[in-house]
Amino acid sequence: MSTGGITLDLGRLDAGETRQEGTATCAIRDAAGDEERHNVRVSSTLEPLGRRVHVRCHIVGGAESKCHRCLKPFQRQVETRFEFVLQRGGTSPGDEVVVVAETALEFDLTPLVRESLILEEPIRVLCREQCAGLCAQCGQDRNEGSCDCAPPEDPRWDDLRRLSEKMKSR
Ligand SMILES: [Zn+2]
Ligand SMILES: [Zn+2]
Repeated sequence: MSTGGITLDLGRLDAGETRQEGTATCAIRDAAGDEERHNVRVSSTLEPLGRRVHVRCHIVGGAESKCHRCLKPFQRQVETRFEFVLQRGGTSPGDEVVVVAETALEFDLTPLVRESLILEEPIRVLCREQCAGLCAQCGQDRNEGSCDCAPPEDPRWDDLRRLSEKMKSR
């Protein structure tokens, strides 16, 4: 399956179905530019208020991620919530209210699900907090074992060494 969307069924809402569930698949780029496929379940609670509907959505699922340190693929848990007000007919009084045609029987939730998953994207995607990453010199995965590369010298010590040699030569 490629990307799959999710819609709210407004016809079923009129029949009294105020809880609706569905699944969505979205491909989102992480902070490093890698594509992460998200497979999520969306549970929506709809509360009709006249011509408006208060919609609360709970997203739970997983993302197929790649660790920014060791570059290994792994599954990441994802969970987030969002809510908005849907108005059937009329004009929008502001950004907070989404307007659909009065006769609309469906509302496509996919763009809002996608947007809230993007907001949840971490700056650094790590397979685990303590991931040791790769050796910058030979590429050895430090989670699996050490290599024989000498640790790179901290350039900050160079200045100190130069200073102490200058002092000695005085
Ligand atoms: Zn890692
Ligand atoms: Zn190495």
